[in-house]
Amino acid sequence: MFSSVRIRLTLWYTAAMAVILIFLASVTYFVIRQNIRARGDAQAVELANTFLSTVNAEMGESTKPDSLDYGVAAAISEHRFRDVVFAVFDPQGSLIGMSEWFPEDRRHSEWKRDALVAPLRGVLGASVPFQSVHFAGRNYRVYVREFSFSQQAATLVVLQSLFHQNEFLETLADTFGVVIPMTLLIAGLGGYFLARNSLSPVVAMSEQARSIGADNLDARLSVSNPDDELGHLAQSFNGLLDRLSASFDRQKRFVADASHELRTPVAILCGETEVALAKQDRTQAEYREALRILADESKRLKRIVEDLFTLARADAGQYPLSYSDFYLDELAAECAKNMRTLAAAKQITLICEPSGEALIRADEALVRRLMLNLLDNAIKYTQAGGAVSLCVKNRDGMYELGVTDSGPGIPADLHSKIFERFFRVDKARSRKEQDGGGGAGLGLSIGAWIAGAHQGQLELTRSTSEGSTFTATLPQHPPPG
Ligand code: ADP
Repeated sequence: MFSSVRIRLTLWYTAAMAVILIFLASVTYFVIRQNIRARGDAQAVELANTFLSTVNAEMGESTKPDSLDYGVAAAISEHRFRDVVFAVFDPQGSLIGMSEWFPEDRRHSEWKRDALVAPLRGVLGASVPFQSVHFAGRNYRVYVREFSFSQQAATLVVLQSLFHQNEFLETLADTFGVVIPMTLLIAGLGGYFLARNSLSPVVAMSEQARSIGADNLDARLSVSNPDDELGHLAQSFNGLLDRLSASFDRQKRFVADASHELRTPVAILCGETEVALAKQDRTQAEYREALRILADESKRLKRIVEDLFTLARADAGQYPLSYSDFYLDELAAECAKNMRTLAAAKQITLICEPSGEALIRADEALVRRLMLNLLDNAIKYTQAGGAVSLCVKNRDGMYELGVTDSGPGIPADLHSKIFERFFRVDKARSRKEQDGGGGAGLGLSIGAWIAGAHQGQLELTRSTSEGSTFTATLPQHPPPG
């Protein structure tokens, strides 16, 4: 139950509200209580003043020993209040006079007035004028005041019942006791509905997200309000789905293209083998021709499988580069030498332009593959009698490896596409021109990956009807990190 965010939010909200309300109620209660007590004390002082004024007035100038008794008796008969008792004691603690007890609370009415004498005498001589006393199960406030009229000293004790004050405070506490739980209940319910309403888009989103799978990757979450946080979440999720879907599509296309490319050589292999075996007696020349076709197609198949394997490992990030120091100019000369026979067979002149020493730290096998791919393409797509050149230049700490041919060039609108996997400008031409079973449109993608893996890049820097130049830029040292 507590795993629901709605319930947890509501509980936290209600608990926080409860703490605040209880704190506020407690502060209010104690402030009011202090205030009432202070007003009661001020009232006791007032009462004492008027009582003593009456005593003084009734005594007049008389210094007779019983004049104080007379004044007190007169004041007592004039001051009769509910819940207040006036008692006057002489310095020895004997009671001179005491008013009647008219309790507001009927539960106290059975008390005898005389029963109050002893507790009142007990507060005489206290160091503070106000005291709270408790007797017979009730709370009282007493005010003690010494006075002396006509050289006759005595002590006045004003006793006030706290019945009214306590009754008011009890009502206040009872009110808080009802209002606080009710407020919490209403706030809790309100909080729950608020949380439920606010989170309902999340519930809807999670249901929609659950229904999205490989079969319907094009489905998207509905975005009710694109400007709020949940709208942002839905948009981010939809963005993730866009990327996933694009990568899924690429993967599907890759698999489809790969199987398509593999199907042709495999079909040729099967067909040629069946034809060769179908006839009993074949001449040696016929068998040799059949085997040559099989060897060509096997070579082509091998190359495609190797290229696919390289790209699959590169995609999975499982192609660690093995760095070593070597001279790029020497490697270029070596590659040109290796390709010269192929170029000569097509009557193409292959030139490796001389350059200065070009020491580089890179993966030699991969850089060699990049060069061979570019040279292979240049020779493949150049007509007989044309020329291909290879050069290495040092530019601002980077090496530029350029392969230029005098081939037909590549249409401008396809410049960015030729680096895509399996892309070929003219599939028929590409296949026909190949030597020993040719590329499947993977050579430039692998070249671009090799340059990128070295933090460099491969670009088509020139392409006209007179020819093309592919330039690979490679840093001299692997960048740190
Ligand atoms: P392929 O193995 O088919 O050559 P690549 O990825 O190496 O595949 O090249 C992709 C396509 O780019 C080729 O099919 C070809 O149409 C075009 N291309 C590549 N290099 C050249 C070039 N030097 N001159 C003209 N077209 C080229």
